Amino acid sequence: MSHIFGRSTRGQLPTAVAGDGCYLIDANGKRYLDGSGGAAVSCLGHSNARVRAALHEQMDKLAFAHTGFFTSDPAEQLADRLVYYAPEGIDRVYLVSGGSEAVESALKLARQYFMEVGQPQRHRVIARRQSYHGNTLGALAAGGNEWRRAQFAPMLVETSHIAPCYEYRDRRDDETAEQYGLRAANELQAEIERLGPDSVMAFIAEPVVGATAGAVPAVTGYLKRIREICDQYGILLILDEVMCGMGRTGYLFACEEDGISPDMVTIAKGLGAGYQPIGALMVQGKIYDAIAAGTGFFQHGHTYLGHAMAATAANAVLSEIEENDLLTRVRAQGEKLQSALVSEFGQHPNVGDIRGRGLFRGVELVADRDSKTPFETGTKIHAKIKSAAFDAGLICYPMGGTINGQRGDHVLLAPPFIITDEQIDELVSKLSLAVKTALK
Ligand code: PMP
Repeated sequence: MSHIFGRSTRGQLPTAVAGDGCYLIDANGKRYLDGSGGAAVSCLGHSNARVRAALHEQMDKLAFAHTGFFTSDPAEQLADRLVYYAPEGIDRVYLVSGGSEAVESALKLARQYFMEVGQPQRHRVIARRQSYHGNTLGALAAGGNEWRRAQFAPMLVETSHIAPCYEYRDRRDDETAEQYGLRAANELQAEIERLGPDSVMAFIAEPVVGATAGAVPAVTGYLKRIREICDQYGILLILDEVMCGMGRTGYLFACEEDGISPDMVTIAKGLGAGYQPIGALMVQGKIYDAIAAGTGFFQHGHTYLGHAMAATAANAVLSEIEENDLLTRVRAQGEKLQSALVSEFGQHPNVGDIRGRGLFRGVELVADRDSKTPFETGTKIHAKIKSAAFDAGLICYPMGGTINGQRGDHVLLAPPFIITDEQIDELVSKLSLAVKTALK
């Protein structure tokens, strides 16, 4: 019997024993093409030589020194490098161990910020339906999936949810994409007015929605309008780039493509690329300065902040991205993946939409392509695709969820940045087989 409870239990799941580039290998020697990098984590693939060497070297010097007493070279170096690439104005970094910790830290920092600047009544968060921001109690409160929240209600952070920016489902025929983007963004304004502007502290959203919707990018202009509204009401804009950040979309920070800078941005997953657990909250100087001038320090903390091994892995990941020009590669391979998906599924009667940016792509499945009618809840098409793909030796990330009140099934693809043209073909043909099997 396995004493592990939670997701990975021996007997129910194969045992992973090795990684080799874009492949994972189980105890029976079966090879799986990692078409989703787990959950958009393994951006360099498995067993990367530079990361391994860097970790060995650091381990021989120093693994851990508590940040209550010391800083470390890897952590300082990582913060400097992240700030160099960060959206405009972001110049402070809080290193944590994963995505939920980063979002939790953002919510607490926002709260403390408004306390420090004499606006303690600002405590509400606005997020979007069909969103996921993590599983700790604060991050869970921000997320917009009712079923995830229901069993832990009441939530610790008062959050309300507006519609996501979801062009495929919500753009009307008489609107351009830009008109739709403005209409969707203006929902934020209406919600702020409804709640009372002085009670709202932050709006949180993913620039490209990952797991819960299948790589849905905001339409052009949406985030610019969101930025304007946040500025107009003095509300902090938190962008959650835990999944879509760190080069996944072909830009180190996804919001670069939207031409805006948030007040705070969270990153994780691809930052450590699976080699170490690490995440970061990055913020505008004005937020840090207000706290420095007030209480003096952020009243928050975890044992493993700025962990030397974790920071070492992240530094090596950044070096790989820089020295191999991986952002250019992500954009090129991303276009090839999109074309391969369109040529395989573009006319498929049960594929409604193929979208995404860079190597972050989603395929949405529907019962009827013309009416965009989703599959019935009980059909569990996403689960069937996951299992058929796994049998065929492909890891992909299918999900089913409620999209603006309607059921939707999609497959998220987020392969390693090093994926070759042949591996893109392998991915698409295995996915095609899995979709056929699931729809039988
Ligand atoms: N935010 C987003 C957008 C995510 O996709 C996730 C993880 N799926 C999280 C936060 C939480 O990250 P973690 O699982 O590392 O706590």
